[in-house]
Amino acid sequence: MSGKACVIGAGPNGLAAAIVLAQAGLPVDVLEAESVPGGAARTLELTLPGFRHDFGSAVYPLGAGSPFFSSLPLAGHGLEWIHSPAALAHPLDDGTAVMLERDLGETRDSLGIDGPAWDKLMRPFVERWVEFAPEIFRPLPFIPRHPWLMARFGMVALQSAGAVARRFRSPCTRALFAGLAAHSFLSLDEPLSAAFAILMAVPAHAVGWPIPRGGAQSLTNALCAFLSTLGGKVITSSPVHSLAALSNYDLLLCDLTPRQLIKIGGQRFSESYRRRLGRYRYGAGVFKVDYALHAPIPWNAPDCLRAATVHLGGSFEEIAASEKAVRLGQHVDRPFVLLVQPSLFDSSRAPAGKHTAWAYCHVPNGSKVDMLEKLEGQIERFAPGFRDRILARRVFSPADLESMDSNLVGGDIGGGTMDLRQFLFRPTRRHYATSARDIYICSASTPPGGGVHGMCGYHAAKLALSRWDGG
Ligand SMILES: Cc1cc2nc3c(=O)[nH]c(=O)nc-3n(C[C@H](O)[C@H](O)[C@H](O)COP(=O)(O)OP(=O)(O)OC[C@H]3O[C@@H](n4cnc5c(N)ncnc54)[C@H](O)[C@@H]3O)c2cc1C
Repeated sequence: MSGKACVIGAGPNGLAAAIVLAQAGLPVDVLEAESVPGGAARTLELTLPGFRHDFGSAVYPLGAGSPFFSSLPLAGHGLEWIHSPAALAHPLDDGTAVMLERDLGETRDSLGIDGPAWDKLMRPFVERWVEFAPEIFRPLPFIPRHPWLMARFGMVALQSAGAVARRFRSPCTRALFAGLAAHSFLSLDEPLSAAFAILMAVPAHAVGWPIPRGGAQSLTNALCAFLSTLGGKVITSSPVHSLAALSNYDLLLCDLTPRQLIKIGGQRFSESYRRRLGRYRYGAGVFKVDYALHAPIPWNAPDCLRAATVHLGGSFEEIAASEKAVRLGQHVDRPFVLLVQPSLFDSSRAPAGKHTAWAYCHVPNGSKVDMLEKLEGQIERFAPGFRDRILARRVFSPADLESMDSNLVGGDIGGGTMDLRQFLFRPTRRHYATSARDIYICSASTPPGGGVHGMCGYHAAKLALSRWDGG
């Protein structure tokens, strides 16, 4: 193929798009604004020397389950997945924790009275993961390749988490389900919030919730290394301020969200397309803290030490109230907190005997409220004495996050709200295509949305190639 392609942004989706284009034989340059590639998949010394923290993403059910990433020789370029013994711990006020075990049968046994209902809900998708994954990692098709499986998924997924949680009789199982559904950033009484609980739990049982040895950067570095074997180049510290400056390229793939795309390329688009992009809605933001610790977190529930990810929020009702408040633009005293403790399972993250942790809570988009006390209050609630173990911390407000990755608009880590409308039309009805035939959008603001899986980039690049006349 003749012609030359440029990808703007070296996040997981930009790198995935670049690899697809390079695999098709196109010369590709990836222009990245920051000095280190990866976007929200970077690992940096954010606190003290020798403590390596994931700036953004940390745990990769969608990365390990991604049909595209799984097709690449990333292990040969240094990527090694580490699985904590359990995928997830959800501590409760009585000093116990409800666990999402990797094995579906073990989870079923541990959930007691709700074990059979959990099994019945998850098993069809776990057992058919190989067919299920390509269906959920693409735009909603008119005719799915596996219609019965997808009809079964749709019947549950379109419901609210609250409606689906009524199948469970134990408050412990309901709490576990609420924490999973809260990844949606939706209120748990909104349609589609149940889908996220299923899309988090099913990969836990099918492929795990692994962390990369060395952190997120190892995944990014493996993608960059593989891209370079195909001749693609990643050029860092190269922010693109105007698409007009890229007229020497035949194809432009933008790992950007709609607001940025309008800013740097508005004049290249039709009036109506610009208007539609302008109507795109961003979701809640996050308030994040990275910790350097001199010892592991002193959990009341020892089971929490078996899982890389811990959900802190108590009961279903409490998490639902916290997520609803955020959706309404409010701040809560007891926010739902997602915490990752990677150094328990990967000693490369901190000096010998020391540890790292990463925690965030949801806040209204662009919030300027300091949530540190409240976030740490939730950790102390389930791990009294946590604060005594802190050597250093680094706090990121939504604006701080956006200043280090401009796709994190107002602290939104998912590239835009994922409600029913933006699930179907993301960011517009055209999905990856724009009104300009040579410009495509390939970020998490396209299907299938947020998360590190590279499938937005994969589908955008496939579409661009299918419409490319060969230069
Ligand atoms: C705190 C946090 C925690 C998260 N946790 C997880 C998790 O555990 N697991 C998970 O799967 N996902 C997680 N996510 C979400 C996930 O990281 C994102 O959905 C994913 O990184 C999106 O990939 P992307 O390529 O679309 O965008 P990004 O990763 O945001 O990359 C976009 C890139 O484009 C660059 N860029 C932007 N504008 C320009 C420009 N004008 N010129 C040049 N370059 C530009 C940016 O610098 C950036 O490198 C988390 C995100 C955050 C922030």
